Amino acid sequence: MHDGRIPVAVLGATGNVGQRFVQLLDGHPWFRVAELVASERSAGKRYDAATDWRLGAAMPEAAAALPVQGYDADLQSPVVFSGLPGEVAEEIEQRLAARGHAVLSNTSTHRMEPDVPLLIPEVNPDHVRAIEAQRANRGWKGYIATNPNCSAIHLVLALKPLHDAFGLDAVLVATLQAVSGAGYPGVPSLDMIDNVVPYIGGEEDKMQTEAQKLLGGYDPARGFQPATFVVSAHCNRVPVRDGHTECVSVRFEREATPDDVIAAFEDFRGKPQELDLPSAPPQPIIVRREPNRPQPSFDRDDARGMASIVGRVRECPLLGVKFVVLGHNTIRGAAGAAILNAELFKVENLLPI
Ligand code: NAP
Repeated sequence: MHDGRIPVAVLGATGNVGQRFVQLLDGHPWFRVAELVASERSAGKRYDAATDWRLGAAMPEAAAALPVQGYDADLQSPVVFSGLPGEVAEEIEQRLAARGHAVLSNTSTHRMEPDVPLLIPEVNPDHVRAIEAQRANRGWKGYIATNPNCSAIHLVLALKPLHDAFGLDAVLVATLQAVSGAGYPGVPSLDMIDNVVPYIGGEEDKMQTEAQKLLGGYDPARGFQPATFVVSAHCNRVPVRDGHTECVSVRFEREATPDDVIAAFEDFRGKPQELDLPSAPPQPIIVRREPNRPQPSFDRDDARGMASIVGRVRECPLLGVKFVVLGHNTIRGAAGAAILNAELFKVENLLPI
């Protein structure tokens, strides 16, 4: 473990989410990128030769010189971050967990399984305990823990303090999702310029089922008990590079005015803030009061892309209260979320180190 930091591997390291992992882990106080893994197309090359780097700042030097390994490599890092496409994640992530790695996955493949935690450290940190049942059920030395879909995470971060304070009954959400959420090259440019695509396969279902799992309970005897509020989602792809915007209307079990909702957002702090985890934003929810914010091009990088930005909190004649939430989809919506999960596992002494 040279320099004292924990060596980590990144799966799908050349992709959109993989590049974010490499960027966000550069200079991390606890973790050091030691192994990079991608498809056969990239294996055997140096990372800088295999990767079409598409992020603003330059590729971190330490990563540039690392060799890209194939999926059959015998990885040495105890912690593995996964940005794999769903169709290949199942076998690879399970194999690594069985061998004793902590696999922190962005992929949807394992999120809804009855012994796999789906985590947002501010929302349901107690769900980490599900890894004990997972190891027992599957006979694994390691485990898989997942972070939510890139739209669900920002919706649920905003809903958490409202559910605690007023009880959620019904949620209606319409998303305007960035193109980077579809990976690279993603949606063809001719489908995206001058257009809105009112369909993202599987996304609307994930908004509902993931929100209910995240805001539900867990106990070792009964497993996960999903929350019972109803969610109706419309998911749209829009010509924005990064940052998902979501227009949300909510009906509560108990009365709440827009001012009550704003106060709940502003007072909200979770375990990452309490523990001062390295990737935690000071406030998980930032409230904007201007009539025309948040906007993706101005606000997505606030709090280093790790917060959800809320605005336009007002009365909704249909359900009670409505607001807009914006969040970075490849930072808090993907790589940053998995890194924050790993930080929580570390302080809970649950990393296999
Ligand atoms: P991406 O840009 O398409 O990258 C995919 C990565 O997986 C690349 O490193 C690629 O390696 C590798 N790969 C592709 N096909 C493979 C195969 N058949 N076998 C092994 N490796 C293969 O995708 P992404 O946007 O980073 O998304 C990765 C995962 O994160 C997906 O499951 C996605 O749903 C999830 N996710 C994405 C976002 C987002 O905002 N983009 C947010 C949350 C979750 P090569 O370069 O070598 O081909």
